[in-house]
Amino acid sequence: MPAEKTGQTEKKPPTVGMTGAIVAALYDRLAKEPLAPGLYLVSTPIGNLGDISPRALSILARASDVYCEDTRHSRKLFAAYGIERRLHAYHDHSDGRDRLRIIERLQAGGAIALISDAGTPLISDPGFKLVRDTLDAGVQVFPIPGPAAAIAALTMSGVPASRFLFAGFPPPKSAAREETFRELASVPAALIFYEAANRLQQTLADMAQPFTGRDVAIAREITKLHEELRWGRFPEFAAEDFTAFARGEAVIIVGPPVAAAALEDEEIAGRLAVALKVMSVKDAADTVASALGVKRKRVYDMATEMKDRECRE
Ligand code: SAM
Repeated sequence: MPAEKTGQTEKKPPTVGMTGAIVAALYDRLAKEPLAPGLYLVSTPIGNLGDISPRALSILARASDVYCEDTRHSRKLFAAYGIERRLHAYHDHSDGRDRLRIIERLQAGGAIALISDAGTPLISDPGFKLVRDTLDAGVQVFPIPGPAAAIAALTMSGVPASRFLFAGFPPPKSAAREETFRELASVPAALIFYEAANRLQQTLADMAQPFTGRDVAIAREITKLHEELRWGRFPEFAAEDFTAFARGEAVIIVGPPVAAAALEDEEIAGRLAVALKVMSVKDAADTVASALGVKRKRVYDMATEMKDRECRE
């Protein structure tokens, strides 16, 4: 690649060696600064070990104590960066006395880091109770931002990212799931769900009706070797085969509800045609009307006419 010309002098693109030296210098400068007392919520990679900031590493290297979900798992990250620390296990469901011990150390001036197995602590991971207790004790909490699968998935999904709701893991039991999806269907925003890979196919099937007509995307193994994105629209998408996704990690992104006022008859008829194949006129009209946020009468009249036409042909 030719060097970029700036006036008379040639500006060479930075080499990897130079970049490495700049990052190392930044790390060294940060690592020399004393760490203020407080609880540090340090985000760590969700797959690619390179996705950790020099600041995050410098805090993990300086913290008086590091708490994590699984010490064996986190030790790999520390080993990859040559950081030697004693790791302690922490879960929100741990004994309240564990939290008390951490708070006492914080009050004594400790700088304590909390990490999770991957991504940002507290985001479907432990840490909330500890943050509340830390704030109640008058100690400062510092976020050290970095990877979060929810945000990475949303940005790569092709779904508008201006307004979204993070819904975490759907409830595992079907009655609670149904209620959750029905409740969320009326939220005028994109929805982000985490899900265990082996439950993905069933979850999509359960989403098909409440989210009929909405765009959907699945981001799998983000930042890892087999990173993949699949997208489509409910209900058709749910009928696709996701057996290959049964391993690994995945995020489901559901697009925002289609704006009712802007909906053309053609769009409603398209959804109705699919629904009428498997439902009565009444059920199809109810499903499509609630999924698209359109007046039921308008959809019911269209469904009746379509069914009549079908019978005449
Ligand atoms: N705290 C993490 C974060 O900030 O994203 C989330 C932890 S939660 C226990 C684990 C879930 O996050 C997985 O079941 C999956 O839904 C999602 N996840 C984590 N890493 C992922 C990745 N690399 N690709 C896709 N989804 C991922």
